[in-house]
Amino acid sequence: MAVVEVNDVRKTFPGPQGQTVTAVDGVSLSVEAGECLGVIGESGSGKSTLGRLVLRLMEPDSGSIVLEGEDVLALSRRELRRRRRRWQIVFQEPFASLNPRLTIRQIVEEPLIVSKMYKTRAERWKKVARTLEEVGLSGEFLDRRPANLSGGQQQRVGIARALVTDPTLMVLDEPTSSLDLTIRASILALLADLRLSRGLTYIFISHDIETVRHFCSRVLVMRRGKFVEIGTSRQVLTEPREPYTQALMSAAMPPVPYESAAARRDSGREAVSHIQVGNP
Ligand code: ADP
Ligand code: MG
Repeated sequence: MAVVEVNDVRKTFPGPQGQTVTAVDGVSLSVEAGECLGVIGESGSGKSTLGRLVLRLMEPDSGSIVLEGEDVLALSRRELRRRRRRWQIVFQEPFASLNPRLTIRQIVEEPLIVSKMYKTRAERWKKVARTLEEVGLSGEFLDRRPANLSGGQQQRVGIARALVTDPTLMVLDEPTSSLDLTIRASILALLADLRLSRGLTYIFISHDIETVRHFCSRVLVMRRGKFVEIGTSRQVLTEPREPYTQALMSAAMPPVPYESAAARRDSGREAVSHIQVGNP
């Protein structure tokens, strides 16, 4: 069964000079239950807008959005609020998306209050603690505030907040882009585990092609709001049909000068180039 069916959605914004910016220009996609669909494209190509439209966190100008068989655009505000618990999002900037004044417990409890999932506070707190544990955070984090957490821990809280209402679908909008390289892998591993253990469906937005290749079975490519191509990650990321995807992939290959000194040291190539300089 398709969890997501989006047809020909469009979203425009008023631009800074009074012109119209078309952020998403007639994009269609579907995502099957338990699948991970990657969405790639350069910065400004409309990925985040598309992710928000899919969950109706933003109203499209036109098009249709069906989630788990429900016409999302036909739902009233109240109905939408009730369904929201099944369709969640994780943002790129964990710290910016977490209220700094609230404790971790309050942050993760909030969606449970909004969705009226549990009757008592004791039940909610139990669910909060269990969910934090599931994302690798022990009870000692419950009464801390976001500023006292590392970036990786903050993103674990962001994931717990999305997870606490037991969703079926999660939009992950560059969930590791703002994190240090060293902790990216652990957050990705957590997200991969959660998808399997909970049978979640993901829309995984990223500008990192290698991550999408490993993480997603299929991938959608966007450019300037428009659909470029869609297919299995294997097909799109090894034999792209479209020149734009090829360009995106070659841009993603870091040229040698960008390689970090540490990476060069680790691979022993620095020593080699040193010798070469000295002994041409
Ligand atoms: P991406 O996530 O791929 O970087 P976005 O969806 O954030 O792209 O943005 C797509 C385009 O829409 C950009 O030109 C951006 O400036 C514009 N845009 C996005 N959100 C808004 C907004 N709230 N108001 C005005 N313009 C926006
Ligand atoms: Mg974005």
